[in-house]
Amino acid sequence: MNVRNETPPPLRRLDGRTSRICLTFDDGPDPEWTPRFLDVLEEARVRATFFVVGHAARRYRTLLRHIAAAGHEIGNHTYAHRHPWTLTPTDARREVEDGSAAIADVLGQAPRLFRPPHGRLRPTMTEAAGAQGQRTVLWSLSARDWGAFAQASRIESRLSRAAAGDIVLMHDGRNRRNHPWETLHALPALLGRLRKAGLEPKPIPPQAATGRRQKHTGPSQPAGSRGGARAAVGSVSSP
Ligand SMILES: [Zn+2]
Repeated sequence: MNVRNETPPPLRRLDGRTSRICLTFDDGPDPEWTPRFLDVLEEARVRATFFVVGHAARRYRTLLRHIAAAGHEIGNHTYAHRHPWTLTPTDARREVEDGSAAIADVLGQAPRLFRPPHGRLRPTMTEAAGAQGQRTVLWSLSARDWGAFAQASRIESRLSRAAAGDIVLMHDGRNRRNHPWETLHALPALLGRLRKAGLEPKPIPPQAATGRRQKHTGPSQPAGSRGGARAAVGSVSSP
């Protein structure tokens, strides 16, 4: 069996004909910041997708359960968020499998989605995710909420371009360089704008997770991708 040929391409955006938009939050659960994101989302009655890191999922089990109980989708963001290029093939596979196992241990259910750290597509990892039934998900619009340009005003400006079909990358976990407090400031404006535009923020839909091919995905960036999608192929990476 050739696993590589059966692994569907990464999902970067949804079909533009939908009124759906997917907000994603990476690198948690973070005991200081994740609950605040949950409060803002709950108040707006919005459900999102959280790509969590396995070791934090194990450490903050109650918080992870709380995220899932609020109706958000939980995705696998590896066990320790190590850079995909730095790992031996065995360790790369393990990072995916251990991240998945940590989530399953806490929630009693394996994740259906996988996002590699830094958006780096390493076949060993995406194939390991695919073998576990997890669809690899990147993004089409990034808040770029890390590093020197992560001020709330800049994040808000980047997110103002959010449109139907976008998968939006944000961070609720600090990791090393993320500024979730800035994202938190920018989030209500984004939610208000989406509501006015009639766009429904939803978790990544189940049919995407089954590996059904999407029209707008492929080996290169889709024409409509903006912002940090470049991070998947360029030298600048998200934390
Ligand atoms: Zn990350």
